[in-house]
Amino acid sequence: MSGPVRVESPPVCRLCGAGPASQSLRAGTVYGGGPEHGFWHCAECDAVYLYPPTTEEEEQRFYAREFEGFMAARSGKKADWASAEAHKASGRGHLARRWPFLEPYLAPGRDILEIGCSSGFMLDAFRDAGLNCVGVEPSGVFYEHLAHSGYQAYRNLDELERGPDRKFDLVVHFFVLEHIRDPYDFFRRTLDLLKPGGRIIAEVPCVNDPLTSLYRIPAFEQFYWSIAHHFYYSPKSLGFVLDRLGAGREILPEQRYDLSNHMTWMMDGRPGGQGRFDHVFSPELLDSYRQDLKRRWLCDTMFVHVYR
Ligand SMILES: [Zn+2]
Repeated sequence: MSGPVRVESPPVCRLCGAGPASQSLRAGTVYGGGPEHGFWHCAECDAVYLYPPTTEEEEQRFYAREFEGFMAARSGKKADWASAEAHKASGRGHLARRWPFLEPYLAPGRDILEIGCSSGFMLDAFRDAGLNCVGVEPSGVFYEHLAHSGYQAYRNLDELERGPDRKFDLVVHFFVLEHIRDPYDFFRRTLDLLKPGGRIIAEVPCVNDPLTSLYRIPAFEQFYWSIAHHFYYSPKSLGFVLDRLGAGREILPEQRYDLSNHMTWMMDGRPGGQGRFDHVFSPELLDSYRQDLKRRWLCDTMFVHVYR
């Protein structure tokens, strides 16, 4: 049959295997993808997943060469991925937000592994706090930088697992899980890297992001759904994965972007604008807005703790 290439529909859910009757198209436009790509929602497990998935070859090419350029194009002038040092400077906001979630677990002398540690701005803070740090980073530029900064670094989990047997008190990753093709395999392997009593702490985008799930802003829809992601998780679908693995877990709501950013999307249809109206909005208003979104689980981010 000839005709225009269209979004291909999945035979079964990529997360739970439920049949086509439970699958519906959530997004027909994928940033960086082709006309055949879409993000699909499963009514059974609440997964939102890329279909058709990118091949492993496409993915390897992407992470080896294209990732920094892709992120720079996507994030505009705000985050500078062009050089590792500039990336570190732009990571300070992340560090400040994550620290309260992590601090109770960061005793000096503990062994910590960060997967997808990019330029190492989190590892620097962990090292300053007296932890023994190991990093995994597939991006070529950042991997070289880590090695030069004195970190024990690996390009991927395979490489780490082939090395000497090593267990960690903490395995952390931030905005990594959504890039992973097989979350079951990934959690199984990272749980295996934990010492007894150890835990995984991860930061994950939440698909209940109000810009798509509450306000449904057309410009945001064109921006949000990325070819670099295999899955967008909700607390329900993330819980589904961890329950299937028999892992213990807590999932906590977090809201990264503020009222000004949301208003900028609504007014101008573009990213940015964080803090734009701080001269008008009180800290109480900003906090109250954040708390309301978190309470209703209409928030853009989750922290998840995983343990045996
Ligand atoms: Zn499913």
